[in-house]
Amino acid sequence: MVIVMNINATDKQISDITNLLTSLGLGYHISKGEEKIVIGVIGDKKKLEGKAIEMMEGVEKVIPIVEPYKLASRIFKPEPTIVEVEGVKIGGSNIVIMAGPCAVESREQLFESAMAVKKAGAQFLRGGAFKPRTSPYSFQGLEEEGLKMLQEAKQLTGLKIVTEVMDVHSVELVAQYADVLQIGARNMQNFSLLKAVGKINKPVLLKRGLAATLGEWLSAAEYILNEGNKDVILCERGIRTFETYTRNTLDLSAVPAIKKLSHLPIVVDPSHGTGKWDLVAPMAKAAIAAGADGLIIEVHPDPKNALSDGAQSLTPENFETLCEDIKVIAKAVGRDFV
Ligand code: PEP
Ligand code: MN
Repeated sequence: MVIVMNINATDKQISDITNLLTSLGLGYHISKGEEKIVIGVIGDKKKLEGKAIEMMEGVEKVIPIVEPYKLASRIFKPEPTIVEVEGVKIGGSNIVIMAGPCAVESREQLFESAMAVKKAGAQFLRGGAFKPRTSPYSFQGLEEEGLKMLQEAKQLTGLKIVTEVMDVHSVELVAQYADVLQIGARNMQNFSLLKAVGKINKPVLLKRGLAATLGEWLSAAEYILNEGNKDVILCERGIRTFETYTRNTLDLSAVPAIKKLSHLPIVVDPSHGTGKWDLVAPMAKAAIAAGADGLIIEVHPDPKNALSDGAQSLTPENFETLCEDIKVIAKAVGRDFV
């Protein structure tokens, strides 16, 4: 349940509520917006039976939440969350572009990609140093060496770094090098990993699981938020359906649906969402038109020889053309992309 307070509720009225919750063994989170102060109640709501919270001073209304997530919900926080990374805003009116190779393969490959995506207009460099591959025999990533290369690429270009963390024991290591920690689709319900990234002070890009409903995805976000990390960015990357022509089915309806259900920013990954480079640009443009807060796109200087996901990677030239088109679409839908 959430307790919506009058905007001019006093500190005493708020603490009367929180003291009552604490005395009943319930937890709470407070969201202070411009128009509302909302108290999200955590725990077994049966403990509140017989307590007429609506009658307490300063309370505007009490809204029961039936969804398994609260902190991620729009009811709890009506204003959109804007995640800020060294001056770059994700959410609000801004469009952010994250781009780079699927995996960090070498210094040359990474730097070439970084310079190309920077030139085209990206603000973030993506690149996996730890790769979740379907087969254990596929390239698994350069690990810490790859993270160091990402950091060098950041020094060279000023691009912020988004890279995947695959397990609890490498969270601290990856956090030393990354500006945004990516949780991969296969790990969306790795609850111990979600709790671990919830405890650190770095934004998290949470990819949608291969077969996750929106409710399951937002519940996964809830794990991170509930640990105190408020900077969660959702990423739609396609789901498993009966269609085999594409690698996944990119669910663009998730974008407006998430905007309705949640205050969290959402970016779209049309690369994993389609698996085919020639479908990436149309779906990227559609994603921005649908209201996405940004894109994460695989770009490789030599897709044919990429160690992973070459078939869905754009060449730097195609990526540049796409960014030009995104500028036009962003403007048409009233968004800022510079
Ligand atoms: C990736 O971004 O390289 C990746 C592995 O994505 P996903 O977890 O969405 O498959
Ligand atoms: Mn990939």
